[in-house]
Amino acid sequence: MADDAERGAGQGSAKSGHDRDRDTIIHKRLRDGTLKLYELEKELSPIDAIRVRREFIQEETGATLENIGILSIDVDRVVKRNCENMIGVIQVPLGVAGPVLINGGYATGNYWLPLATTEGALVASVNRGCSAITKAGGAEVRVLHDGMTRAPVFSTDSVGHAAQVGDWVTVHYDELKAAAESTTSHGKLTDIVTFVAGTSVYVRMEFDTKDAMGMNMVTIASAKVADMIAQGTGAKLIALSGNMCTDKKPAAINTIMGRGRSVVAGVALTHELIKEVFKTDAKSMFEVNYRKNLVGSARAGATGFNAHAANVTAAMFIACGQDAAHAIDGSTCITTVDLTETGVYVAVTLPSLPVGTVGGGTALDTQQECLNLLGVAGSGTPPGTNARKLAEIIGAGILAGELSLLGALAAQHLARAHQQLGRG
Ligand code: NAP
Repeated sequence: MADDAERGAGQGSAKSGHDRDRDTIIHKRLRDGTLKLYELEKELSPIDAIRVRREFIQEETGATLENIGILSIDVDRVVKRNCENMIGVIQVPLGVAGPVLINGGYATGNYWLPLATTEGALVASVNRGCSAITKAGGAEVRVLHDGMTRAPVFSTDSVGHAAQVGDWVTVHYDELKAAAESTTSHGKLTDIVTFVAGTSVYVRMEFDTKDAMGMNMVTIASAKVADMIAQGTGAKLIALSGNMCTDKKPAAINTIMGRGRSVVAGVALTHELIKEVFKTDAKSMFEVNYRKNLVGSARAGATGFNAHAANVTAAMFIACGQDAAHAIDGSTCITTVDLTETGVYVAVTLPSLPVGTVGGGTALDTQQECLNLLGVAGSGTPPGTNARKLAEIIGAGILAGELSLLGALAAQHLARAHQQLGRG
């Protein structure tokens, strides 16, 4: 943990004469270009480097940056692993929704969901969905598939040569798997699929990354495999990522084949419960889903067929130290509503939730507290179970968000809720 001096770093802590002289010299070197802004950690402790860099940017721009300097996270680790040229932190309000009862393959019991957001009404909305799920006896949640991918692109001389690369990969699968797994003590290569477009060949490798989200892990492993493919086939490696992975872009391949953890979550709501919690009825919820999430999304050419799955994905990803850019993957959710004799069965299908409980931003003190709140911080026993549990909990949170927004729209309450909660 950061000590008190670090916590108050943004508030002009008392500096000794020696520190002031040192800072003055460093500022001068930054201004005359003999010291680069990104080199400050070579001369100063991380917390001093952050402060001096912030002061320099303040001087350069004339902006007042006092609040972003108030921090409680252990920056020694952060400057090495998570953020370069650091000048402080952004505080995002953190709310909690729940408890939500989950009957999952990995997550079982009641959970309080941490949501980091600035969108008024979001936490309240998810909270209402959690209440409906819990009253209904819980959300059934499962991880259907688990595999992080990287797809290098190679150039070949002809379409025949391109086809040969695919054949070579099939024949040498066991050697490639052994090479990939020599780079990691946790990752396992689980599949390779090759795609050809003219003279370009894309080798999409899939890995079980256990509790890591795994992008760094699979990139390192894929580099080794890519070199072997280039040597064995004469194809030229053009880029370690050829965009058929597909990372941080909405892509049908992720929706069809899955990427990260593929999760489904569903709940049966009775007519009575729909009326009690959402002040609407089964038929209206069904029709909103049909005309909005399915037909409306199709008409718009959307790649996501849901109400606002990215809202919960982004808020829980930020809270739990996940890569926030992967909120795009949550947006590919398909929300379905089946009419049943007793009410509705509402489900979310999430083909791509890249989440981890080790690595990346998961070790930051505040994010670690959110993972602890869910009982998923660090390695699971056996490895992989914590990340799958987190994926199931986020799946249940997305289901809660979908239920609540569908309910609000069906009851024509959406604008009113935002007027009351989202406007100060
Ligand atoms: P990482 O922090 O690079 O590495 C996690 C490492 O933790 C694993 O490689 C593994 O080491 C170790 N580990 C310890 N216990 C483990 C367990 N129980 N299960 C799995 N691994 C365990 O994290 P990452 O998940 O590979 O990558 C996430 C980061 O990649 C994020 O910061 C994200 O923003 C970034 N990212 C990178 C790229 C890229 O192209 N490189 C793209 C997008 C995002 P061993 O492998 O030695 O077993």
